[in-house]
Amino acid sequence: MDFFNSLIDETLSATAGLEKTSFAYDEGDAWKDVGYNQVVLQRDSAYELDGIGFNLITSASVKDEIIVVGDELKNIGSNRKFARISIVQIDDIAEDQKAYDLIRKIEYVKYHYFPDGYMIRTSSRSHKEVVRVSKAAINSGIEFRNVGNLLISRYKQIKQVRGVKVIFISDPTADFKRLETLAQRNNQITETLNHVMNSVNFDCSTCNLKPVCDEVEGMRELHFKSAANGMG
Ligand code: SF4
Repeated sequence: MDFFNSLIDETLSATAGLEKTSFAYDEGDAWKDVGYNQVVLQRDSAYELDGIGFNLITSASVKDEIIVVGDELKNIGSNRKFARISIVQIDDIAEDQKAYDLIRKIEYVKYHYFPDGYMIRTSSRSHKEVVRVSKAAINSGIEFRNVGNLLISRYKQIKQVRGVKVIFISDPTADFKRLETLAQRNNQITETLNHVMNSVNFDCSTCNLKPVCDEVEGMRELHFKSAANGMG
């Protein structure tokens, strides 16, 4: 799976000059998961992080780690822009349908982790991710590191997941516009993949996804193969 590799390189370069802290993955250091969609009311909230969250999937090697670019949660203090990017290494799966199903499974992880006092609002149709952090969680010492450990532990419940790097960006000087563009391109590639795997309609001259297929190596071949196999 290498459709997202160029976006991974660009994401890493978008944060290259910024100060960051790296933590090794430690499941024992994961923040408590309350197991349901907890509501943090405005009056109980310390602040909101308003931003984007997306996954980049690859078969290239990824080290388990959490990277914090900018302030930790306890030092943020008021509403801020934010980004969460998960780079997820999966087994190199030869069968296209299986690789595609796995990407979808990994996408669902963001709806299935519920850090205590860290309310995540996101949707399947967008890369927006808004987090409301409670005063109680801040007082209890919540950090991105703990949230990242919890998130990585959830990805790792999927047996084909090999390594995960979670990057939290809270530095106000980060180039959020560029990250937004990368998130949009990630969405376009994912949507094209959805189409390619689910539609036997194969007419590039009228297809609005052509710009993505022109850019992403292997996408057109995948549609040709999947249409020929009648997967759609
Ligand atoms: S291969 Fe052609 S028909 Fe298929 S998604 Fe790409 S542009 Fe569209």
